[in-house]
Amino acid sequence: MRASLSRHAVLVQGVPDVQIVQQLDPLRSAVDGLKASGTLALVPTMGALHEGHLTLVRAARAAATHIAVSIFVNPRQFGPKEDLARYPRQLERDCELLEAEGVALVWAPDLAAMYPAGYATGVSVSGVSEGLCGEMRPGHFDGVATVVCKLFNQVRPDVALFGEKDWQQLAVIRRMARDLDLVLPRAEAILGVPTVREADGLALSSRNAYLSEADRKAAVALPDGMKVAIAAIRAGAPIAEATAALKAGLTAAGFASVDYAELREAASLVSVEVLGEAPARLFVAARIGGARLIDNMPLVL
Ligand code: AMP
Repeated sequence: MRASLSRHAVLVQGVPDVQIVQQLDPLRSAVDGLKASGTLALVPTMGALHEGHLTLVRAARAAATHIAVSIFVNPRQFGPKEDLARYPRQLERDCELLEAEGVALVWAPDLAAMYPAGYATGVSVSGVSEGLCGEMRPGHFDGVATVVCKLFNQVRPDVALFGEKDWQQLAVIRRMARDLDLVLPRAEAILGVPTVREADGLALSSRNAYLSEADRKAAVALPDGMKVAIAAIRAGAPIAEATAALKAGLTAAGFASVDYAELREAASLVSVEVLGEAPARLFVAARIGGARLIDNMPLVL
């Protein structure tokens, strides 16, 4: 493996090494260099990479000449009682995985590069950020919008890719890009990638690492229960009844609590009480063992 935490590219037999950059000045030169020879896609992540992240990287390959991946565990999107301190960090391994995927640039800023002393600015998106995770995690989407806005300005990507696993996050970022007239990337160049799942249906997540073997087995009740609720709603069950049954099922399966289980319009995230014309999705967040798991699925599977 040639990945290393050096600031600049090393040329090996004419093939540029992945550039791993941790400060803004070398980032700017690296981005300028890449943009001189094609388009650039950005995949923002918090690291601890899994197949879900790598699927975004592969989708990025089809969308641009060069791929940049950011790895930054953003404190501003964690609540005071959340898992910031124990969130998995494995930068060397992540860089090796990304190098194997042909990623040109890894942007892994340290805290001071992202939020230098005196930092005082935030981006706040209302509307789509309200309810669901926005309600359960106050300030979370302000932290997400702020860091993603900064990442966009730092990396200046033509295209950016996000997972549909975090559907509300994707909606917040698209709204921000539209509302702030972002140019790199334009709102239309913010692409969503379908959720990657384990063989049993559990969505891949860095937080699945918190699960014991028994909790991991029990966690399959989340996607299974969602599919049952969706089938019931499609068959005419009242939405409130189907979501209540889903919550009860998750608790019975060993989940400690359910933050929410709600049907919402896919684009606007407005609550759906009675089925209408607009495409709808089921959104769930529930806690098991040490993990808070989220998932969402379309009403039409
Ligand atoms: P994270 O590192 O959790 O912030 O995620 C970085 C990006 O990967 C986000 O756009 C996520 O939505 C996306 N992502 C995480 N898990 C998955 C998954 N299972 N399938 C698809 N995308 C994912």
